[in-house]
Amino acid sequence: MRKVALIFLTAVLAPSLVLAWLAIRSLKDQQIVAERQRTLLYDGVAQGLVKDILDEFAEIQRDFGRQVEALLAKQAPIDAAYAFDTRLLESWPLAEVGFAVSLEGSVYSPSLLGRSEARRFRLENDKFLSNRESVEFYWNSPKGAINLSKLDDSGKEGRYVSPQKGGDYKTKISSAEAEFKRLVADSSEGMLARYVQNQLKILIWYRPPNVTSMIFGAQLSVSDLLARLKPVIKLHETLQREICAVLLDDRAKPLAKTYLNFLADWKHPYVAEEVGEILPHWEVAIYPLRATLLNKPGHTAALTLGLLIGVLVFAIGVGGYLLVSDLNRELKLARLKSDFVGNVSHELKTPLTSIRMFSELLAEGRIEEPQKQKQYLEIINAETARLTRLINNVLDFSRIERGEKKYHFEPCDLAALTREVFNNYAPQLQNNGFQMELQVPESAVPIRCDRDAISQVLLNLFSNAEKYSGEGKEIAVQVKTANGSARVEVRDRGIGVPPGAEEKIFEQFYRAHDALSSGIQGSGLGLTLARQIARAHGGDVICESREGGGTTFTLELPMEL
Ligand code: ADP
Repeated sequence: MRKVALIFLTAVLAPSLVLAWLAIRSLKDQQIVAERQRTLLYDGVAQGLVKDILDEFAEIQRDFGRQVEALLAKQAPIDAAYAFDTRLLESWPLAEVGFAVSLEGSVYSPSLLGRSEARRFRLENDKFLSNRESVEFYWNSPKGAINLSKLDDSGKEGRYVSPQKGGDYKTKISSAEAEFKRLVADSSEGMLARYVQNQLKILIWYRPPNVTSMIFGAQLSVSDLLARLKPVIKLHETLQREICAVLLDDRAKPLAKTYLNFLADWKHPYVAEEVGEILPHWEVAIYPLRATLLNKPGHTAALTLGLLIGVLVFAIGVGGYLLVSDLNRELKLARLKSDFVGNVSHELKTPLTSIRMFSELLAEGRIEEPQKQKQYLEIINAETARLTRLINNVLDFSRIERGEKKYHFEPCDLAALTREVFNNYAPQLQNNGFQMELQVPESAVPIRCDRDAISQVLLNLFSNAEKYSGEGKEIAVQVKTANGSARVEVRDRGIGVPPGAEEKIFEQFYRAHDALSSGIQGSGLGLTLARQIARAHGGDVICESREGGGTTFTLELPMEL
């Protein structure tokens, strides 16, 4: 038994569990790879969108240059400088204020006496533009970046959002301080962004090649700029159903989305990419439309695998249990069969010995007393009957086992049959000093049965009552009818069936009292046969312990009404 369990454990269970473990690990690895690929893809998408935004800024820069050149073509530079704010506003909607300064620091435009926006602009920027003050700004120059190390790096960290994935994300831009002249140096165009009272201001400027001492610029209207950027934030059709790309400002407020009604925890995107110095701390962020959808393939695979492993382990467990219990059963049966062979041989031998002994005594003529002769003949007769019963049981059992047992059903009176079988058996009981009682109804108890088979059942029950009678040599047989069924009760006051064995005694070869300790011979087939025959008749044989000791065996059969 232990060997089988060990083989099962090493050959089936352990390899299966190892396989299951490997499968789970490989699935996890796959999920990590898939996640990484997804992060890379979304990073690529965000970077692409940032590039599109920067391209748009480059276009704005070119556009502005063209505007300045067009105005200079119509007017002398100094006139153009004085009128720049007014003129630019007429022709270029992106401009909020136009300004013109000389490198020496004279501010020609906008006029201090002009619109309120222009006045505010002068207040905010005069000192800076005339190089009397350095301001904190974020620098972007398409024509060669300024060497920020030359400037005072304030190192201001302006990040507000933190992507869920892509841990290598870091703030790429930082602010610096300088006056306008130093900042412009010898470049011909550029943009710079700064926060004035927490409001983003973007300045764009251009230095015409033929008037290098003059710089024309504009403060961009952020709302118009946004209107221009919005169409840039778009996704490929296949990605539209999967993610939402969002342009976030420095406070992680969404300004443009690819999916209008989408809402999310804006501070925790899947991946995010800073736009750069022109829009400091603005980011293009990617959010999965439905977080569960993203992981769905992984989840489904994990679920399927989990289920498969569960089923596998369950199947192995059940298989193992069935195997072990089947093996157990087989082993038990093999043991019982070998006991049976021993028991039957013994049962055959005992009657044969007495038959031989008594017949020899009689044959030799040494017994002269007729009384004794009669007694010996009766013993021979009883032993022959016992042998016949045993052989009938064994033969019938093997017939039933092979499915070859044939029943010849015919109408029959159970009362008469019981009386007949009991009366045939009674002399033996009488000889052995049994107290007998037979209660049979006067009227017939009609049943349909195979007479020989039912007689065999009754004989087995009577013979058991005798065999297991112990000291209480009492047998009561009663035939009853109730609710359409007929019952033959065989009651004894014998040694009784051990508690818990009331059903087991009907199993083949099973003996509740083994021959060695009880000294009672038997094959363990009598009750098995009795029950099989009764059930073939639509009835049953049941066992009940009696109060005060002993057992009642009841043969129940359907009555023929
Ligand atoms: P056996 O040839 O051993 O009697 P049976 O199938 O007739 O085989 O009975 C099975 C077992 O049931 C017996 O071994 C015995 O332990 C128990 N048994 C049967 N009849 C009685 C009874 N009347 N009283 C007590 N035990 C009984």
